[in-house]
Amino acid sequence: MVEHQLRQRGISDERVLLAMERVPRELFVPEESRQYAYEDGALPIGHGQTISQPFIVATIGALLALDGHERVLDVGTGSGYQAAVLAELAREVVTIERVPELAEGARIALAKAGYDRVEVRIGDGSLGVPDRAPFSAIAVAAAAPTVPHALYSQLEEGGRLVVPRGSRWGQELVLVVRTPTGPQERGSVACRFVPLLGKGGFAST
Ligand code: SAM
Repeated sequence: MVEHQLRQRGISDERVLLAMERVPRELFVPEESRQYAYEDGALPIGHGQTISQPFIVATIGALLALDGHERVLDVGTGSGYQAAVLAELAREVVTIERVPELAEGARIALAKAGYDRVEVRIGDGSLGVPDRAPFSAIAVAAAAPTVPHALYSQLEEGGRLVVPRGSRWGQELVLVVRTPTGPQERGSVACRFVPLLGKGGFAST
């Protein structure tokens, strides 16, 4: 997975590659799909949601440019896989999921895999986690129509936010850096995520 799906596609950050090598992805996919855990794609995890493609998880990690000292917010816990990768890259990870059953499954998988430093919250992550802000970095794993204002405002100065921005059917992964003069943006790869549902995302109906 690391050689063929990541390095050969241009992921060169050695910390990210090592993190991707370390996290046992099979612990984050449903038992019936374990044989596909290292394939090049997203997989269903129930409740109409998915565990993201390894390449996309690594791309988000690389765009955040973490050095190991940060507090990171992960929006859209899903299986907990991205949170585990972020825990390999940063000091502290808070992750938030709107579907309680997925949050509970992620808690169990994270504990099994040994990531007890990850705090799992249940709620509308499009509003961030104000009582744990500011964050050095925020990863959003669901598609938003615009950069959620609450998330940008919970970044520290110089902090980095990665979000798939676009329609419900297709998005671009965008890096937003908080600067004294306002947000600085840079586009990255095309992607297709499930929607971010909530006050700062898409309406749920
Ligand atoms: N990063 C996850 C992983 O590695 O398994 C994949 C996340 S999945 C593509 C997107 C997740 O975002 C879903 O579990 C969905 O329920 C969640 N989600 C959507 N809107 C949300 C919101 N407003 N707050 C929190 N989670 C949300």
